[in-house]
Amino acid sequence: MSEWQKILKDDAVATLDKLAEKFGHDVIDVEALKPAFDNFQMRITPSALEQIKRVGDPMWNQYVPTVQELDIVDGVIDSLDEDADSPVPNITHRYPDRVLFLVSPVCASYCRFCTRRRKVGDPEKIPLNQYESAFEYIRQHPEIRDVIMSGGDPMMLSDRRLEYLFQNLRAIPHVEIIRIGSRITSHLPERITPEFCEMVQKYHPVYMNTHFIHPDELTPRVRQALDMLARAGIPLGCQTVLLKGTNDDPKVMMKLMHELLKARVRPYYIYMADQVAGGEHFRTTVQKGLEIIKALRGWTSGLAVPHFVIDAPGGGGKVPLLPEYVEEITDDSVTFRNYAGERYVYKQPKQSGGCASEPIQVPDIVPIAVGQSAASTTNERSSKTGKVTRRRRSAAG
Ligand code: SF4
Repeated sequence: MSEWQKILKDDAVATLDKLAEKFGHDVIDVEALKPAFDNFQMRITPSALEQIKRVGDPMWNQYVPTVQELDIVDGVIDSLDEDADSPVPNITHRYPDRVLFLVSPVCASYCRFCTRRRKVGDPEKIPLNQYESAFEYIRQHPEIRDVIMSGGDPMMLSDRRLEYLFQNLRAIPHVEIIRIGSRITSHLPERITPEFCEMVQKYHPVYMNTHFIHPDELTPRVRQALDMLARAGIPLGCQTVLLKGTNDDPKVMMKLMHELLKARVRPYYIYMADQVAGGEHFRTTVQKGLEIIKALRGWTSGLAVPHFVIDAPGGGGKVPLLPEYVEEITDDSVTFRNYAGERYVYKQPKQSGGCASEPIQVPDIVPIAVGQSAASTTNERSSKTGKVTRRRRSAAG
């Protein structure tokens, strides 16, 4: 057994009784929390435990079960409708040139807000013996150039199994990029070993999307693991979920982005928390996310400003949201405000023949999806599937 597997087996807290032993029975009401625990298992690694400074702090909120998980309001089990886009077991094919490949059912620590909590922790739902149909699907689809290994956490697999996956994917000529989505650097930095770092270099380009929520996660040991990955030539990105009471504060997010960059991790996404059953108490408003992006953009380096997205409920994919800087667009000019709120005008290039269309007035803050113009839209949401049918209206409509 490897060192990291021993740590997981011997030192992680994986029962409510053990949690109560550590933090006190007055804090952990084992009986009251049992239904939440039964609904989604708990495991907290030594690294995550070290990050918890006090009861109820941002780290605690991420890992300790609460009775709020049982309050289901808008939450749905498969909030992103991933199973509907799954042509073969373990594969989700939603976007034109890439697939999600679920390779591991388990994680080192379990995050209470997990979108995939319906599957994570259950080996029957992410079977390890069904990789072959996934490889065959990827082989048969030459448009797939990017494979994102996820789960669960792919880094919970042994090096031998990871290498088997890399070898099979690299044997498919049209697979250009392999990505690993993993929270292991925060949960179990001991998993990043010299052996893994040596092995992975045979299969580049391999990217890793890490997952950090709060700057307190970047302990010296975690930074060391990130450094090892960067030295192994793995470009590192970070996905962050916006969580109420945990990181929904511009100062906390600014600090997180700065600490990530210092560790050579490029902030990639801030996600709105999904409408997942059991994780609703973590959700905050979209306005809060826009406020955070507005507090980053221009006030700090562009490197520190990730995309802010909603993963559309019902399987619509990621939609970027932007605070609105543009006030008016005409054929002659664009009027906008800069990060400090000062107004500027940019002259459009002269068009031959001109055009007498109406100026477009842009309201104060509007989420603008990629490819969507400033014309407004109305949405109709199916209460059953969460899918939204968008109806387009003219700017004057
Ligand atoms: S590490 Fe990722 S997949 Fe695992 S519990 Fe956390 S959010 Fe879910």
